[in-house]
Amino acid sequence: MPKVLLHICCAGCAAGAIARLKEEGFEVSGFFYNPNIHPLSEYQKRRQSLDVISRYYSVAIQEGEYDVQRWFKEIRGYEKEPEGGKRCAICFRLRLEKTYQLFCQEQKYDFFTTTLTIGPQKKSQIINQIGTSISSYFLVRDFKKKDGFKHAVVISKQLGIYRQNYCGCIFSKQERQKRFKS
Ligand code: SF4
Repeated sequence: MPKVLLHICCAGCAAGAIARLKEEGFEVSGFFYNPNIHPLSEYQKRRQSLDVISRYYSVAIQEGEYDVQRWFKEIRGYEKEPEGGKRCAICFRLRLEKTYQLFCQEQKYDFFTTTLTIGPQKKSQIINQIGTSISSYFLVRDFKKKDGFKHAVVISKQLGIYRQNYCGCIFSKQERQKRFKS
């Protein structure tokens, strides 16, 4: 059975992506690395909700460092970018590079990939391009295909998983708040 290290952005997205990978015959291990998430209380909420997923799918999930300062350093100069712009490409790359580091360090997986392509607002082509530019071991997937996102929402509801209403960083939170006020 091929083994894949799956970068996980949140439990809701993991629910759909793990189901798809298991259907395809992969043995899945998870890696939660998201220093983009703001504030810490939100990070903890997303992290804790992963325990349900871990038990439900019998998947081991490791947690990376919450190195917020590194994230802010990486995206410096792109704070005002809209969601889906250059800041997001940097944010994707940082998280995928860290996942690849773990992939190399542990030497027990055949591939690595990410849940990020399941989000309806996320451009899968860009995420897959970044992944393949990091390594040929990146498993190209578009988890939103075949109603992947809808399926993830159904599973999340069944399991009572917390679903956030903004992507993760402080800027996406502010964007969301502005949209609601106007
Ligand atoms: S909007 Fe989402 S993907 Fe883009 S920089 Fe913020 S957290 Fe990262």
